[in-house]
Amino acid sequence: MKKIILMAILLIFLIGIVGCTKNTADKTETLAGSDVKVVKIAYLPITHALPLFVEKELQNQADSKIKIELVKYGSWPELMDALNTGKVDGASVLIELALKAKEQGIDLKAVALGHKDGNVVIVNKDINSVADLKGKTFAIPHKQSSHNLLLDQMLADAGITKKDVKIVEMAPAEMPSALSQGQIAGYCVAEPFGAKAVSLGIGKVLYQSPDLWKDSICCALVFNNAFIQSNKDAAMATVSQYQTAGKYITEHKAEANGIAKKYMNVDDSVLDLSLNWISYNDLEIKRDAYEDLITRMKRAGLSENSPAYDDFVDASLWKK
Ligand code: ZN
Repeated sequence: MKKIILMAILLIFLIGIVGCTKNTADKTETLAGSDVKVVKIAYLPITHALPLFVEKELQNQADSKIKIELVKYGSWPELMDALNTGKVDGASVLIELALKAKEQGIDLKAVALGHKDGNVVIVNKDINSVADLKGKTFAIPHKQSSHNLLLDQMLADAGITKKDVKIVEMAPAEMPSALSQGQIAGYCVAEPFGAKAVSLGIGKVLYQSPDLWKDSICCALVFNNAFIQSNKDAAMATVSQYQTAGKYITEHKAEANGIAKKYMNVDDSVLDLSLNWISYNDLEIKRDAYEDLITRMKRAGLSENSPAYDDFVDASLWKK
């Protein structure tokens, strides 16, 4: 009898798990007493995610058929786990990480860029050229990143191979102090961590991203495709408001600066410098820029079976 009860409990438990799994595709919530959809989007507190912060703040001032709920994460792996498992509907994320997940069978769609330009190569005061980095340690946030690709380009332009430099992965927030303590000679990472070193007087800019890679792609707004398929209107509204946010940042710099400070723990001087290097105008993912990214990823050995533009980019959500 005990066995039968135990088996019954196990069966109910298993049905529960299957039920939860099946519901993952369409578990978008609505606000109580309304048909307003809650769209959960994951982010890291960096200037590269500013359009999301602005979208959220502009939404607080207006009626909308969606409500953006921003979910903060502390690292890219944690954020990717939430995106891949459908804990969130979308994320502002390094496009290489999303692309790699797509390559491994996770159905993700990139719908917009996070920003344009906005990455810098930071070095200590003793480094005056790329050749000076020979034999030194250089930090990037993740192998799958545009920062790694920018480093590739910088070394190739100088005729130096990756074997000549010791490349390490490091948490972005640790890079400025690692530079000041001499653990690393330089780094390339999402902002505002480059601006922080310059503002503190412990590092200088060796290159800005357009010097190395014109129209570089870095972060993107990425959705779980199950969310798009079950909530097309909410996905379109999210992207439309995101487009508006990008334009707003370009046209209302002071207000956007104020919003950035609400979401990031950053000094004014660091934020101002960081925002000087970046632009948010026209965040459409263009086909030629995507092809350039793929070429660079393949050359660096970061991608073998890259998804075609039409498989990975959902351009239908972008209003021309
Ligand atoms: Zn970025």
